[in-house]
Amino acid sequence: TAPTDSKQENSITEREPIAAIATPVGEGGIAVIRVSGQEAIAKVNSAFQGTDLATKESHTVHFGNIVDAEGAVVDEVLVTLFQSPKSYTGEETVEISCHGGVLVTQAVLETILALGVRSAEAGEFTQRAFLNGKMELSQAEAVADLIHAKSAKALDAAHQQLEGKLGKHIKEFRQQIIDATAMVELELDFVEEDVEFANKEQLHELLTDLDEEIDNLLATYETGRLVKHGVRTVFIGLPNAGKSTLLNTLVGKDRAIVTDIAGTTRDTIDVDWSYDGIRFILTDTAGLRETEDVVEAEGVKRSQKAFEEADLAVYLKDLSQTLTPQEREDIAQFQQAAGDTPFVLIGTKNDIALQVDDERMSYDLKISALEGEKVDALKQLMKQRALENKHYDASSLLVTSSRHRDALQKAQQNVTSAIRALDQGMTGDFLSIDLRSALKDLGTITGEITTEDVLDSIFSRFCIGK
Ligand code: GDP
Repeated sequence: TAPTDSKQENSITEREPIAAIATPVGEGGIAVIRVSGQEAIAKVNSAFQGTDLATKESHTVHFGNIVDAEGAVVDEVLVTLFQSPKSYTGEETVEISCHGGVLVTQAVLETILALGVRSAEAGEFTQRAFLNGKMELSQAEAVADLIHAKSAKALDAAHQQLEGKLGKHIKEFRQQIIDATAMVELELDFVEEDVEFANKEQLHELLTDLDEEIDNLLATYETGRLVKHGVRTVFIGLPNAGKSTLLNTLVGKDRAIVTDIAGTTRDTIDVDWSYDGIRFILTDTAGLRETEDVVEAEGVKRSQKAFEEADLAVYLKDLSQTLTPQEREDIAQFQQAAGDTPFVLIGTKNDIALQVDDERMSYDLKISALEGEKVDALKQLMKQRALENKHYDASSLLVTSSRHRDALQKAQQNVTSAIRALDQGMTGDFLSIDLRSALKDLGTITGEITTEDVLDSIFSRFCIGK
């Protein structure tokens, strides 16, 4: 047969066979049990009744029974065969599709485990795919993001990363550094002969370009973070301002998705809500001024805490009530406390607003949650304000992981330090050290350079069976 050009095929290591249920546990039409590793097909074959799997080609599906050691039928199944290296892990793999009940699935898994196959750890299939060069580390991480994606845009971002777009950027950066290092080390070779460093200008340009490109990529993280984790939105206002009503109006029937996110105060509730592909986590700060006997500053203090965690603050003022000097003062303080966090001032209950409008307050919007007035405009405003001043281009690559952000920042620091060394006329070996460090930092993103700890922390985020 013609040799393939894939270098992956040379680097596959068949590890001990592992198995796990790859579908969610519960009742369903079918469930899939994945078996991967040395002699996976032979192992399954020894518990399979119907046809001799050992004689079958890769990527074929076979009907039969899984039988236990006594020959009793455990379940009627379909098995799909994948010969190495053409599988997700790169190893020999069998996927057993059985009936989707909790007990029957467990029984099939137990039967396979009894053949000397080990239970897979969380993410172990994907880890093997990475170790076998089937994907880069950033792509493996994207698999987890894909599974955990909570909004359409988060899914897009995970897809982009899974396609290897981030890896491609990182490879380009690394190539630029390698080029720069070559220029520096060429100079080192001639230093004895006192050769004037001819390419200083060129090297400077290369490094400043690189610095800027890393900066541009880093700048996408703020949006990436919001897209991946959601926009934390706090609703503030006096009791009865209409916070819960608005929350219910926004979320509508989907209100059922109420999550209790750890770390939030007990008197706030968090609701997951998606609008136009963006996930919002709405927090209703139950009446900041409810207890009048507490110290004055308490309300603001609590909201300050909420602001620290928030990406967007929405203040609701009841338009059917006169604006007291106290509330006017509160609003000003909240606005100040918000700092860089976008702050939106909304007038509520516009359907029963006081006729004399002597408030001299400039509202971003006046709405009526009860009548649905301007509610769509509010949704748009929330998205716009949450993402304003952030790089937001639906089609462009976003850095969504803090691990990647940290590595990019370190690489950038090293590049900056190399530029400084160059400007100060330091010798090439100083530059060389900085550049090599930068190369290493970037390598941790795609996984050229990695440690057990990093791998463990990444793959433990996965579910068993992935
Ligand atoms: P919260 O304490 O800020 O959460 O306020 P609620 O959402 O519980 O609302 C307080 C009262 O105002 C309730 O009786 C609501 O029905 C009423 N309310 C809320 N929004 C509107 C609105 O847009 N128009 C009118 N007329 N009443 C509203």
